[in-house]
Amino acid sequence: MPQPSYTRGRQDKPLLTLTIGQAFDATVAIHGEREALVVRHQGVRYSWRELAAEVDVHARALMALGVEVGERVGIWAPNCAQWCILQLATAKVGGILVNINPAYRVGELEYVLRQSGCRWLVCADAFKTSDYHAMVREVVPELTLHAVGELASERLPDLRGVISLAAEPPVGFLPWTALAGRAGQVELAAYEARQQGLQFDQPVNIQYTSGTTGAPKGATLSHYNLLNNGYMVGESLGLTEQDRMVIPVPLYHCFGMVMGNLGCITHGSAMIYPNDAFDAELTLRAVAEERASILYGVPTMFIAMLDHPSRAALDLSTLRSGIMAGATCPIEVMRKVIEQMHMAEVQIAYGMTETSPVSLQTGPDDGLELRVTTVGRTQPQLETKLVDADGRIVARGEIGELCTRGYSVMLGYWDNLQATHDALDPAGWMHTGDLAVMDDEGYVRIVGRNKDMIIRGGENIYPRELEEFFHTHPAVAEAQVVGIPCSKYGEEVVAWIRLHPGHSASAEELQQWCKARLAHFKTPRHFRFVDEFPMTVTGKVQKFRMREISVEELGEQFAPCGPA
Ligand code: AMP
Repeated sequence: MPQPSYTRGRQDKPLLTLTIGQAFDATVAIHGEREALVVRHQGVRYSWRELAAEVDVHARALMALGVEVGERVGIWAPNCAQWCILQLATAKVGGILVNINPAYRVGELEYVLRQSGCRWLVCADAFKTSDYHAMVREVVPELTLHAVGELASERLPDLRGVISLAAEPPVGFLPWTALAGRAGQVELAAYEARQQGLQFDQPVNIQYTSGTTGAPKGATLSHYNLLNNGYMVGESLGLTEQDRMVIPVPLYHCFGMVMGNLGCITHGSAMIYPNDAFDAELTLRAVAEERASILYGVPTMFIAMLDHPSRAALDLSTLRSGIMAGATCPIEVMRKVIEQMHMAEVQIAYGMTETSPVSLQTGPDDGLELRVTTVGRTQPQLETKLVDADGRIVARGEIGELCTRGYSVMLGYWDNLQATHDALDPAGWMHTGDLAVMDDEGYVRIVGRNKDMIIRGGENIYPRELEEFFHTHPAVAEAQVVGIPCSKYGEEVVAWIRLHPGHSASAEELQQWCKARLAHFKTPRHFRFVDEFPMTVTGKVQKFRMREISVEELGEQFAPCGPA
């Protein structure tokens, strides 16, 4: 009888049965004077006690603004100290933080605010080419007409107000700096009673993941989901209060806010944000100047750091470990990270937003081969199985869809029973859409995806979303989108376009049109104009053929790929 592709992680590490607020308070009580948060681009340096003071003031201010248990508060900002403060403050008052990708444009912003029913939005002022205030005003033109907290918006009826992180925001926005002044309106006893009333199984966060079908879906995650995942990831890294972790990955994604922030919070390790968004040099400098021991990143970030001319002059010898996740790591990159960046214990993690995120991870003792060919073994307290198209477990060595079960599986998609039902089966397994093989020792190799998704530089892009979007362009009759391999970003986006007869549009025009309306990373790098698409006899578009043709045609051009 061949062994089935099923494994269970270690059972000897108990799960935490705390809210995020309780876990944070426990760390503050033990490590109060040690450094907790360093935000280099803002000049912020907080001890755990100082961070706790910020969190408590802002949590009480949220209560003063009327945020009730279960109400949603959106955050639309690149990495900054306020992101971390708000993450903890919302958790402490029982709010649900809604992560909004800083690269979103107006249409994407409006969709997630409406779908999640956000009561409050906290937004940055500007970042790269995004003017957040202008975009918010486009969605909520009524902002200047109502008193703070009494907004009545036609397009976003649940929204009560918008808080700006700008020093002096325009009329209509409540300045973040004014929040502390409101904290006193809520008695300390009321704040404490609120915290005591919370349960660890309550939802605390919504993270949007686009779908292969239709609009983005809000993975709804509990304290128990996220806290335990951060904790288990940290345990695998052997984190202690002596560790200092550089977090260049975005906080709006679980890599930053769970594996980063909650990994540190559960172990008393210092969180160090090198910049508002990834920058290879600033990340390397943060490691050297902060004497960091842990560094996170997607493979694309490590490639950029390895290639950076200033790396050689910087002392990275304090590094010992870190995590590479989000996409497959090329062997040469892993070798260099170990040899040239001193990360002898670097680990690979695999997971997805819906599973908090990490399900499998390599261990500190796994050899180089295992760290580049597999994503390790099942995390403690979780189960993994690989199934065929009929949902039956395949034998070891055979390809199957990876499914995860256990504490980490999301509560469901926000206000979307059908999508929840499609992703989670009645026995509680999350179907990931990733294809994998399990060996006799339980190591899992990711071999492909049966979901139509492109991963470019760690960002997920759903072809279906782009294809539907192109239909809103007057000249485009049909669009098909594929990903092709790229040495710099892992994959690049190619759009095949069929124009309406008599219409014209150039690649540049379509690129500009996308950039103005979509998060920048979704803009296709290459366009190919066609009269028809490769089809099967049954009339299905052959994406694999389109991929082959694009690779053949673009050949030399796409390695390395530049920014779109
Ligand atoms: P997200 O929900 O943004 O975290 O993306 C999850 C998807 O990223 C997974 O379903 C995989 O397709 C991919 N992914 C995550 N980690 C890895 C990894 N270590 N190796 C290969 N693919 C990965």
